[in-house]
Amino acid sequence: MTQKHSPQEKSQHVLDSSPGESKNVIEDWCTARSLPGYRSKQIHQYITEQSILDPSEMTSLPKGIREELSKDILASPLQIDQVLRSEDGTMKFLFRLQDKRSVEAVWIPTQDRGTLCVSSQVGCAAGCTFCATGTMKLSRNLRSSEIVSQWHMVDAFTRSEGKPGVTQIVFMGMGEPLHNYGPVSRSLKWLTSEDGFGMSPRRITVSTVGIVPKIPTLIEDHPQIRLAVSLHSAVEETRARIVPIQAQHPLSELRDTLSKLRNSVRRISLEYVILPGVNDDIQEALALASFARKCHGHINLLPFHPFEGAPFQAANEEDVERFREEVSQHYDGQVTARRSRGLDIDGACGQLALRSESPPAS
Ligand code: SF4
Repeated sequence: MTQKHSPQEKSQHVLDSSPGESKNVIEDWCTARSLPGYRSKQIHQYITEQSILDPSEMTSLPKGIREELSKDILASPLQIDQVLRSEDGTMKFLFRLQDKRSVEAVWIPTQDRGTLCVSSQVGCAAGCTFCATGTMKLSRNLRSSEIVSQWHMVDAFTRSEGKPGVTQIVFMGMGEPLHNYGPVSRSLKWLTSEDGFGMSPRRITVSTVGIVPKIPTLIEDHPQIRLAVSLHSAVEETRARIVPIQAQHPLSELRDTLSKLRNSVRRISLEYVILPGVNDDIQEALALASFARKCHGHINLLPFHPFEGAPFQAANEEDVERFREEVSQHYDGQVTARRSRGLDIDGACGQLALRSESPPAS
């Protein structure tokens, strides 16, 4: 059942309901304004058939309806506040939310593709010690409309410059997606379902730092997506230093859960930020190889992006290669090392939002 609203009452954004419920939300909105039935059909078609979310582009609607929509169920949930461009083509978008909080999304081009890293929360409660967002603490969860709009705006922005738009999405920006499961799951439904925007779920990766009880739910609800697990160490004591959430969700539970799911997930990648002197010795390499064998994970070694006050140094390329070789000697699966992108524009997640943080509207 959807709630009835008087015309004066502001309603939630259409994208905050599920794709299946959205028709009713629009119908109710039109009924409350005594609009003829075909109007709701037109609005719904604009959204789901043409991916139009901006009422000003719904040109077959009367101006008055467009204006009302843009103040109500299609009010833009965020605005692009800044765009930073890296020499390597990477672009970082700082979005201003309606309550004046900020989140980031990063667009990374590779040949004919554009990968967008979206945020799922303002700040993060996980507190990983190598992460700028982790120093912000959690401010609030993002709504589904705020997550989907990051994709929609960056896709339009990059296409308008003749670039490939957004062809892949990774939920690796600010926030722990599985700490905000409802809106994240709804946003995945909008992005991938036929009554949403129809993107292939195989082009979407959801990353988690290891919120163990929610991982099977995610895979059950979205079996075609890719799963990335931010591991960063497969040694209990080391991981506890880097990833405090380890105290609530121990490595052994994470390993057993991933091992059970390994045949039902399209791909599990194990993300591993190299922190020199912390998680890059031979014992760590052996533990990582052993962990990956249990879940058939693709190991992805990542550079650390330093930020002000960070307690770690960045590894040089030789150190990363040495660790990659050590792990590869003990693991037959894929072990790759990703290069830094966008370092000249505060490449690490959360850095820009951290600097431009402004007090929320009360
Ligand atoms: S790495 Fe991810 S989960 Fe950890 S603090 Fe940063 S945003 Fe949160």
